[in-house]
Amino acid sequence: MRCPCIEVDLRKIRHNTQTIAERLKRRGIHVTAVTKAVCGHPAIARAMLDGGAAGLAEARLSNVKRLRQAGVTCAITLIRTPMQSQVDDVVQACEASYNTELSVIAALAAAARRQNKVHGIILMVEMGDRREGIMPHDLGDVARRVVDMPGVALKGIGANFACLSGIAPTAAKMRTLSVLANDVEGQCGPFIETVSGGNSANLPWAFGACTTGRINDLRIGEAILLGVDPITGNQIGGMYRDAFTLVAEVIETDAKSVHPSMSNADHTLARIRLVSANLETTRIILAIGHQDTDAAGLSMPPGNTLIGATSDHLVIGTKDAALCVGSEMRFRMNYSALMRAMAAPDIEINRRNDRPASNAHKVHGPGKHLALV
Ligand SMILES: *Cc1c(COP(=O)(O)O)cnc(C)c1O
Repeated sequence: MRCPCIEVDLRKIRHNTQTIAERLKRRGIHVTAVTKAVCGHPAIARAMLDGGAAGLAEARLSNVKRLRQAGVTCAITLIRTPMQSQVDDVVQACEASYNTELSVIAALAAAARRQNKVHGIILMVEMGDRREGIMPHDLGDVARRVVDMPGVALKGIGANFACLSGIAPTAAKMRTLSVLANDVEGQCGPFIETVSGGNSANLPWAFGACTTGRINDLRIGEAILLGVDPITGNQIGGMYRDAFTLVAEVIETDAKSVHPSMSNADHTLARIRLVSANLETTRIILAIGHQDTDAAGLSMPPGNTLIGATSDHLVIGTKDAALCVGSEMRFRMNYSALMRAMAAPDIEINRRNDRPASNAHKVHGPGKHLALV
């Protein structure tokens, strides 16, 4: 195996998607799977679709293009408001996009007319996260302008919670979003097809006892990939937390004391090979660093503690006497570590359980979502 690498178990991705999709289906909500943390990795996206995601969502056009180039043909929605400079490619690659700016929507409409297409618009409403969104009192106005614009079609409204401000979605906020959907319909006519309630942070609300109202879509990334509730960090029942494993190689062992006061800043000590203060703990170095991942977001295997990291080195204190130069160490990652590792050019991505065990033919024939490549 080439190190460093990420092992991704696609069976676990399928299982996690299916678990959430089935639970949400009973609540009248479908799952739009978000691939941005895995940079639009096509095999992972397909595992999400195989697991029952209704479509895909991405924040970056470059990742959408990667999916399209790999032959993914399902609906892809851009969930970050498009850059004005990219509208032509957005219309070409995405069925719909989340929007907050009328000038961008007008540019999308013009691009769609040039391409003889109609681009779907979902208006993002600001409901407390204080990141993107139209203020609720302006929503009706903006919606009316979109409805009157040839080249675009108003497909829905959406909100986002717990990203910038960590404001968790409450039942009251979700009710407000439903009311807004009804208001927009009342003000400008067309049926609002999609009311997208938010991201993985909405799952406790969606699995709870409250009525779901008009909310019929959630955009889920982290919970599918890591099996956790992003607000509490707790495992979601029945989900795998270990679909991804980061593997890194030991390049130095037992070189220096773990004693923190023995600083090499003193020249007289610099060449002395120090004996560990705690005889059971040795210090090892792995060939991975800040440039590859978020070191603080790695779960240390039992008996190991993170001492620190630099751009290319990860220093760990270990009680595992079997570790030697050339050994591999395996880590679980949190969202921040995963997102950076998936984007790191030096990290190879190795797939496990690529095909569903049963129905492999049915699911992987040249079906709706897939093209043979
Ligand atoms: C990233 C993102 C999501 C998905 O968030 P997760 O916490 O990974 O589920 C959904 N919606 C928007 C607008 C996003 O930017």
